[in-house]
Amino acid sequence: MSASSGSGERGDGELIPRNGDEEGDLDPDDWEQFLHVGRGLLDDLVEHVRTVRERPVWTAPPPEVIERLEGPPPEHPTDIDVVLDEVRHLVLPYALGNLHPRFWGWVHGAATPVGIFADAVAAAMNANVGGRNHAPVYVERQVVDWFRRILGFPEGTSGILVSGTSMATLIGLAVAREVATGFESRKRGVAGERLTAYVSEEGHVSVRRALEILGLGSESLRHVPTGSDRRIDVAALERALVEDSRRGERPFCVIGCAGSVLTGAIDDLEALAEVCGAHGAWLHVDGAFGAMLALSPSLRDRVRGIERADSVAFDFHKWLQVPYDAGCVLVRDAEAHRRTFECRQDYLQREASGLAAGEPWFCDFGPELSRGFRALKVWMTVRRYGTRRLGRVVERNCEQAALLGRLIDAEPGLERVAPVSLNVVCFRCAAAEGRVGDDLDRRVVRRLQETGVAVPSTVRIDGRTAIRTCIVNHRTTDADVRQFVRDTARTCRECAAELGPAGEGT
Ligand SMILES: *Cc1c(COP(=O)(O)O)cnc(C)c1O
Repeated sequence: MSASSGSGERGDGELIPRNGDEEGDLDPDDWEQFLHVGRGLLDDLVEHVRTVRERPVWTAPPPEVIERLEGPPPEHPTDIDVVLDEVRHLVLPYALGNLHPRFWGWVHGAATPVGIFADAVAAAMNANVGGRNHAPVYVERQVVDWFRRILGFPEGTSGILVSGTSMATLIGLAVAREVATGFESRKRGVAGERLTAYVSEEGHVSVRRALEILGLGSESLRHVPTGSDRRIDVAALERALVEDSRRGERPFCVIGCAGSVLTGAIDDLEALAEVCGAHGAWLHVDGAFGAMLALSPSLRDRVRGIERADSVAFDFHKWLQVPYDAGCVLVRDAEAHRRTFECRQDYLQREASGLAAGEPWFCDFGPELSRGFRALKVWMTVRRYGTRRLGRVVERNCEQAALLGRLIDAEPGLERVAPVSLNVVCFRCAAAEGRVGDDLDRRVVRRLQETGVAVPSTVRIDGRTAIRTCIVNHRTTDADVRQFVRDTARTCRECAAELGPAGEGT
């Protein structure tokens, strides 16, 4: 390093360049000023969360904002306070809306302010949790172990934090594929293998995508019919397994739904474990949000059998109220898990002591080598609230979904289209009945979103569009539910009037 005109002096008298220079480091010239703007930012972030209820659920980013977020990269530095002001004006006001108590679209968690601190700590430490011997590794291990206990898996179960259930399912099915091929497919690929997987008609698209990525192809996935309760028809599953085996296919994996994305249906996981045992198939459970029922003493029974799965995928960023992104996969057979992803390289040599100790390394349990410190926000959330309080959020959301279902049943303008088994409620505008096409319900959902009143989403059930709410939100109150029903019934009437008489829809 050469001392230049803008250098400062270190305590020991050695000159160090400042970042105003081309040569200096990227730390602030003035740490006091950095701290000052940082405190101002923290004030604004806390205010952003504290006042979320007073704002529309969602505000679309206006064209002038989008325009300012286009263009070439800056060549020259900008002061940090200017950068933060841009964030305040261009980014913060146009959020997705999922902090709001009436955001119930798709399956989006609301997070808690604990995450602000957790992500700040994680960024300050800048840990790479691929492996080695440092505290973040032990934090992630404890998080995995906590949820192993919560879900009832035996000691020795392995696990890893990932971006979400899509990635967790990819990992679970990768282990299943390796086990089915005697750990040959890592080497030889899967050409010629006729592996087939099974999920109910309520299965999430991430299952199909995992099979596509794993080289098994979407055609390897069989969708098994469900009963009127929307749970997988176990007898139909068994018939499919037997018939496919007879035809020379190799049924290698069944994916159970513990909280389906369409209706919240939970398959009979114990029956699936029996069937998988009898047919030598791997049982993977998609518990993206439903796995968190295990936090509640009164609801835990709903996911009975989850502990018999070979692998389970679930999210922290949904019902556990941890900020995006954070999910987890647990694998009962830790050795199979490691053999599927083990990453031995000359420069990744392990040692008994020193920084290269700390076996097992997380990079041996998933596709990523470098990985961030996702575990801290989970760890801090569980430390702060405890499992009981977090389980109570899950219970309350189910009670609120039941309330929403009852209010819809009592409202002549609305019509429920699926049983409320958990926290998901699917319904339609009654005026949509007999209409051609599905314009009305889609228009109602857009209108609710665009006016900032609430955010439900749409879903297709039995070939028709419906309005869907999925409550995984600790800020939701019963009053929000009541207001939503009033606003939605009114919006249905308005939109039906705009579209004209039934039968004229397109
Ligand atoms: C959200 C969800 C997924 C996908 O999880 P990501 O965290 O979005 O990757 C899979 N299955 C179900 C049932 C889900 O709700």
